Amino acid sequence: MRCPFCGAEDTRVADSRLTQDGTQVRRRRECPACGERFTTFETAELQLPRIIKRDGTRELFSADKLRRGMLRALEKRPVPTERVEEAIAHIERELMKRGEREVEARVVGEMVMEALRRLDQVAYIRFASVYKSFEDVAAFRELIERLQQEARGQ
Ligand SMILES: [Zn+2]
Repeated sequence: MRCPFCGAEDTRVADSRLTQDGTQVRRRRECPACGERFTTFETAELQLPRIIKRDGTRELFSADKLRRGMLRALEKRPVPTERVEEAIAHIERELMKRGEREVEARVVGEMVMEALRRLDQVAYIRFASVYKSFEDVAAFRELIERLQQEARGQ
């Protein structure tokens, strides 16, 4: 790490230890060029990214918003709440693992669709129909009809 005093390229780590709560690594560094000492803190970045919307505006990730969207699609479907919450937690973890500060809304949308596809086919279609602006309306209608026929056949 560069020395903040003289700008030298390399500094030496003199000491390295965990902070009391164990969430940070505190390092004492010394610059071999100017002899100054300074401290750095290293924290794992497990923050949820901001969401880049289609119009380019940014907003904070909201699990509530995600939940509302999923529950709307899952209305009157036989899916237990715990499974929805698991899916939301999974999406959050995936987003944190990416370690990016910003993620396109499309990426989150794809994650939600994938989660719904596993939870309930009808909810998946409902969500996809709202979320994706289907270019081919006929193909979409066909898909819906096929699902309905399957439902009737059972
Ligand atoms: Zn220095």
